Amino acid sequence: MTIRTDVEYAIDLDKHDELARFRDEFVIDDPDLIYLDGNSLGRLPKRSIDRMQAVVEGEWGSRLIRGWNEGWFTAPQRIGAKIAQLIGAEADEVIVCDSTSVNFFKLVVAALRARSDRTKIVTDDLNFPSDVYILQGAVDLLGSDRKLNVIHAVDGLTVSPETVDAAIDHTIALVTFTHTAFKSGFVYDMPSITKIAQRAGALMLWDLSHSIGALPIDLHAANVDLAVGCTYKYLNGGPGAPAFLFVRRDLQEQLINPIWGWFGQKGQFDFGLEYRSVPGINRFLTGTPNMLSLAAIEPAIDLMLEAGIDRLRAKSIKQTEYLVALIDELLRPIGVSLNSPRDYNRRGSHISIGHPEALRIDRALIEDLNVIPDFRFPDNIRLGIAPIYTSFAEIHEGVLRIRRAIEERMFEKYPGERPEVT
Ligand SMILES: *Cc1c(COP(=O)(O)O)cnc(C)c1O
Repeated sequence: MTIRTDVEYAIDLDKHDELARFRDEFVIDDPDLIYLDGNSLGRLPKRSIDRMQAVVEGEWGSRLIRGWNEGWFTAPQRIGAKIAQLIGAEADEVIVCDSTSVNFFKLVVAALRARSDRTKIVTDDLNFPSDVYILQGAVDLLGSDRKLNVIHAVDGLTVSPETVDAAIDHTIALVTFTHTAFKSGFVYDMPSITKIAQRAGALMLWDLSHSIGALPIDLHAANVDLAVGCTYKYLNGGPGAPAFLFVRRDLQEQLINPIWGWFGQKGQFDFGLEYRSVPGINRFLTGTPNMLSLAAIEPAIDLMLEAGIDRLRAKSIKQTEYLVALIDELLRPIGVSLNSPRDYNRRGSHISIGHPEALRIDRALIEDLNVIPDFRFPDNIRLGIAPIYTSFAEIHEGVLRIRRAIEERMFEKYPGERPEVT
């Protein structure tokens, strides 16, 4: 991509951006802040403020427990159906509940039990650690003959389909990867990896946390068995918003949610003492939905659907290409490396850069230069592009400030220890 590095060029790109109006849908109270962390916590949609006001005062305040019959009870399915439109699933295959980690646990244990004649699980070391811990916990829970095989990404950034293929045989019960790697931004080829897993008779479970809202996903086209994902990153659902899970319809009756609770119980309000699970996707529910944070997700997803996932992806590609070109031009000469795939077809919507002083640069950006990226151990600065609200001018200014932090050695006043949350 040939670009110019002057600000006029960025402003011109913003002028021709067909999604530019969506930036005004979000709270941007500090116009000087360069926010490049939408892949960890998305910005607040203005419509969510109105929705929260209505749900707290109007529904909780006035309607009290009647709220359950006036839209709360069906919110996990209703919002799940909207998420389904973003991931190529049917409305009755997606439900919103619990956290990504808990949903991942439920589907992992359900899948391992459904393939109980097989002993192995395959994942990779690009995966989000929480997913790996849960896999370890599932092995611990289900018995010592089960084994977790963690594929090592040799370049630290990517894993090839051939490497996955070589790791899979007929003893594998479950293959699970994060679709877009949280550190490098590498994106797996979902259809071909799913095919490799299923050819060996394994179930395939994708974690879509770093993909949903940033790139189109077509679970049905890839014949995916199971998926989970997060709503507070590119979906802008708010801190700790409930996650979603997907179970392909023909598998729903074969899989058993390992956490039996009354929201998955047939005749829930009969209060019988014998657990019998409901059919369909609802059997993966356990307890009462977190109504307030669930409510905040809906207007955020409506915005995504309005913007259109294909247009969001097209803008995201343009923006990450622009960012990579700026990095090449302005940051590589001063010691910064690109820690994401160069080919946009193989990456999501965040770009990682490396520098031996990344941790201290990150501090200087946050504390002195009003830039919020995020830091991933040991030497990665992650720059998240949220195409629904990130502007080209913001990317341009962000790179200039990173350059300043390095060139003027602004990071040197900070110690090398890590703060509690990075
Ligand atoms: C963000 C993220 C999660 C988050 O899990 P929580 O249960 O919400 O803490 C899980 N998996 C991946 C791949 C993620 O990127």
